[in-house]
Amino acid sequence: MVKFLRERFATMAPYHSAYLTEGVILNSNESPYSVPEELVAYMKERVGDLLVNRYPDTDSLELANAVAKVYDVKIENVVCGVGSDELIDCILGSTLEDGDKVLMPYPSFSMYSQFTQLNSGQMIKVPLKSDFTYDVTAIKEVVCKEQPKVIFLCNPNNPTGCIFTRDEIRSILEVAKGLVVVDEAYAEFSEKEISMIPYVNDYDNLIVLKTFSKAYALAGARVGYGIACEAVINLINTVRPPYNVNIFSQAIGTWAIEHRDIFLENARRIVDNRKMLEQGLRNLGLKPYPSEANFVWLTLPESVFEALEEKQIYIRKMKIEDSIYYRINAGTPEENNKLLEALKVLV
Ligand SMILES: *Cc1c(COP(=O)(O)O)cnc(C)c1O
Repeated sequence: MVKFLRERFATMAPYHSAYLTEGVILNSNESPYSVPEELVAYMKERVGDLLVNRYPDTDSLELANAVAKVYDVKIENVVCGVGSDELIDCILGSTLEDGDKVLMPYPSFSMYSQFTQLNSGQMIKVPLKSDFTYDVTAIKEVVCKEQPKVIFLCNPNNPTGCIFTRDEIRSILEVAKGLVVVDEAYAEFSEKEISMIPYVNDYDNLIVLKTFSKAYALAGARVGYGIACEAVINLINTVRPPYNVNIFSQAIGTWAIEHRDIFLENARRIVDNRKMLEQGLRNLGLKPYPSEANFVWLTLPESVFEALEEKQIYIRKMKIEDSIYYRINAGTPEENNKLLEALKVLV
């Protein structure tokens, strides 16, 4: 296979992630709660009328319309994707020439650098401060100096849970000539008003990405969306694959956004679970960094990871520079307790 691989991908490897269905799964920031009964009932009823013999609506208009209504924007301001991952790829695919610069704070969502490499861009990483908060001054300095074509701001940040304030994002938008992508995959979990969606029409270089994979408990449906001014949406639509979002996911996503109160209430429960997890960790002498998302970021003694895995408790391990950190998403109170009980004898 290697002999056919493009040279520029030589250092890359196939993406791998174990498909876990049993145990305490706290490693992918998914919702610990299954989808609402009402959604299951709706899909059972709806599945018979979905025209699966036909291609789906290539523009996911029913879903886009529901999204537009919720955020009080026009349908022309919305694009739907196979998860927001696909939209990240489309943004880079529609903008980058070979070697063009892309900026991301570091650590942040790994797909930004993955897709930048796939689209022949050059990633510039601006480190977070030593307390794992965003270094806005450094970001602005690098933006001014390098003027990257695309800038990724993950808010709240995966994997650290830190946030930008709206004013900080505005101040970056003011100096950026490139496209600023604000990834709000976890914004439903933040107790601060951080969303930039109300301002998308004030800027010609801002796009906000959202997903149903986290707060909406629909990671398996692979559906997300972007909100931006019409020109930016058109840019993405130029490279977006036809019929990208399948007919089931369009229906599921539409129901979910139309019933978002159910999911937002669940998000608040998950935030309570995260607070419980943080307190439990602190009681064990551990020091999770402050988080506005559904997960925490911390260091753990060596060998804890493997010991937890043996007990079928799964958390995420990440190497940042030369240090190892862990990201643990909040589970149900029962799951949190299983983790904390296991940690009690390990730390
Ligand atoms: C999970 C996640 C996404 C969403 O991925 P999907 O492709 O929509 O499942 C996007 N951005 C960040 C930062 C994430 O953590």
